[in-house]
Amino acid sequence: MKISRRDALKITGLSVVVAGMVPRMAFAARNALRSVRTGVQPGDKTRLVIETSTRPSYSLSYPEKQLVVDIANMSADSSIAPKLASGTLISEIKQVQSGDHLQIVATLRKNIGQLQKSQIMLLEPNGDNDYRLVFDFTAVSTSADKIASSVTSSGASTQKTKQNIIIIDPGHGGKDPGCIGRGGTKEKDIVLSVARRLKTGLDQAGFKTYMTRSGDKYLKLAERAEFAENRKGDLFISLHANANPSRSVKGFSIYTLSEKASDEEAKKLAESENAADKIGVDGFTEFERDIRAALSSLQQHAVAEMSEEYANGCARAFRSSKVEAQPGPSVRHAPFAVLRSTVPGALIELGHLSNAAEEKLLKSPDHQNKLVAAIVRSIKNYNFDV
Ligand SMILES: [Zn+2]
Repeated sequence: MKISRRDALKITGLSVVVAGMVPRMAFAARNALRSVRTGVQPGDKTRLVIETSTRPSYSLSYPEKQLVVDIANMSADSSIAPKLASGTLISEIKQVQSGDHLQIVATLRKNIGQLQKSQIMLLEPNGDNDYRLVFDFTAVSTSADKIASSVTSSGASTQKTKQNIIIIDPGHGGKDPGCIGRGGTKEKDIVLSVARRLKTGLDQAGFKTYMTRSGDKYLKLAERAEFAENRKGDLFISLHANANPSRSVKGFSIYTLSEKASDEEAKKLAESENAADKIGVDGFTEFERDIRAALSSLQQHAVAEMSEEYANGCARAFRSSKVEAQPGPSVRHAPFAVLRSTVPGALIELGHLSNAAEEKLLKSPDHQNKLVAAIVRSIKNYNFDV
């Protein structure tokens, strides 16, 4: 039985080392199994759904012709019979108690290889369901299977050398200065300076980095998103600074993509950030159609969830570095054009140039380094492997 690095990450939780962070997985409350079911998805995919009463702390392993989902803090429940659909790759599902963990052991008709992040989704409870762990997969061909198992057997060293790709996007540039502080500081200059420092920090930390712009250049928002796609980014970080009509407002805030803005302020911000391309927030529907065509709904959920996870981690890193937070929720949602891609990511408003004290701070190399150190930490702690 092989425990992959992503499983190990899930169990030990790299995030645990960050002071003040509550590890999401490590101390889950007592969990209960609600249901286990399978189904067939378009593209002849097998779907396995495991429903649990609380957010599951889980790991995966792949014994020969099996998929084992190991869930912590859970007891077997013989009253729950798996509902097996016909035509799937799963022929049988058993519950196996292993200490305090419950293993859901799915017997497979064919090998499926190791599941990728895009094939796994944790859904939050909705009206009809509790937490659901969802796995979508197909059989791997024999030759691909051989390659997969040889990669697996060479183990951790192979995986360690896998460099995650971070796309750094300094907002605005060229003819678009972004917002301008009372002291004349331009957003485009601040974010470029922070972006350069961030690139250095991430390169040193072993990431592969690309900047959408490395000079004072105007780029369309769609070009930035496309850049992230083309470079096959694992994470997209768009850097901005904010302005507020009220000059007393200060602090950072972090945004992820959603069709609807989480609040009026987020909506206004998306409008002003999108203004560079003259994209109204209403233009979102068309994008939604494009993305829908390119991604399964599971993948869309996965990108949204990964972005949310990163944004929350980044907010925690800022707070633990004592970076001032804007009042209200630190992570918000709005239809930002620049985030319209399949690469998970966030738009970070580093602070307010409209506030005199923060304008001064944002210009200072010390403060820029502090912001960068927190962002580097948040990226190091982000779980790239599910
Ligand atoms: Zn901006």
